[in-house]
Amino acid sequence: MYPSQPYNHYLHSGYANPVTKSWQGDSTILKSQLIYPIFVTDAVNTKTEIKSLPGQYQISTDLVIEFMKPLVEKGLKSIILFGVITNTESKNPQATSATDKNISPVIKSIELIKKEYPDICICTDVCLCAYTNHGHCGILTSDNLIDNEKSIKRLGELSLSFALAGAHVIAPSDMMDCRIAEIKRVLFEAGIGSRVAVMSYSSKFASCFYGPFRDAAGSGAKFGDRSAYQLPAPSRQLAVRAALRDQEEGADFVMVKPAGPYLDIIREVKDAVRVPVCCYQVSGEYAMLWHAAVAGGIDLKSGVIESLISLKRAGCDIFITYYTPQLLEWLLQ
Ligand SMILES: [Zn+2]
Repeated sequence: MYPSQPYNHYLHSGYANPVTKSWQGDSTILKSQLIYPIFVTDAVNTKTEIKSLPGQYQISTDLVIEFMKPLVEKGLKSIILFGVITNTESKNPQATSATDKNISPVIKSIELIKKEYPDICICTDVCLCAYTNHGHCGILTSDNLIDNEKSIKRLGELSLSFALAGAHVIAPSDMMDCRIAEIKRVLFEAGIGSRVAVMSYSSKFASCFYGPFRDAAGSGAKFGDRSAYQLPAPSRQLAVRAALRDQEEGADFVMVKPAGPYLDIIREVKDAVRVPVCCYQVSGEYAMLWHAAVAGGIDLKSGVIESLISLKRAGCDIFITYYTPQLLEWLLQ
């Protein structure tokens, strides 16, 4: 029986065999491309499960080495640290606890991890919201508006203190204008600009998908919201401009956040920049997959891996995901 249509309308032959199927697209995701977010607190001997992020924890710094051990044994290569201040008295408008060696859970954790796991690539989230009493990501004016210049100066100070403690990658998530240039300036002035990378949360949208994270980081804004600095969801132009600007200011990596609902933005940013693109599969995405699996709607492993392959197809080079512990078991290398 001859086909009724031209031969090139028949596609099945191209992926009839498992090997030819694999030629149709690269689905490789490596353990070294995963970054695991860890929430470290100023408490003592405390490991608390985050209700809205089942399976994820806030860990006091004294437990961080023990917490990481099984992950390192399974091939963990990189983490991103988020500081959580549980003692509200340590929070103030200048976010002073962020750079206070006696308080900062991030600085303490970096020092411990560097010593115990010298091969782990340590990224540090840089923002003020976890340390300010108002919960905003920058320094405010007397009218409670963002003071951009004061904010980026303070973010530079945080970046320097994390870098001097030993962080390999500084990752500012605040969305203040021009902070990449300021952070680069500070790092080069300190003589460490060539060995500390900057990963910009460049294209970060104001999103409902961060809900569980705010529980995790204790960083919700006490008034107003973050739409003055995080990007509006429909904006493609701003997302690409922000990535190009941050590349121009010296970012070694740019980021799109959230990931899954913004696949089109990942592709546009990927096509526009000449630095690797990181994608943050955020807490709400994690929770959606988790609850869908618990409800019997999807198989968790298949769902998580397909979600990452989608990010990769869109142009993602590096994945920040709360599913890193599971992926270290699922992935071969
Ligand atoms: Zn923030």
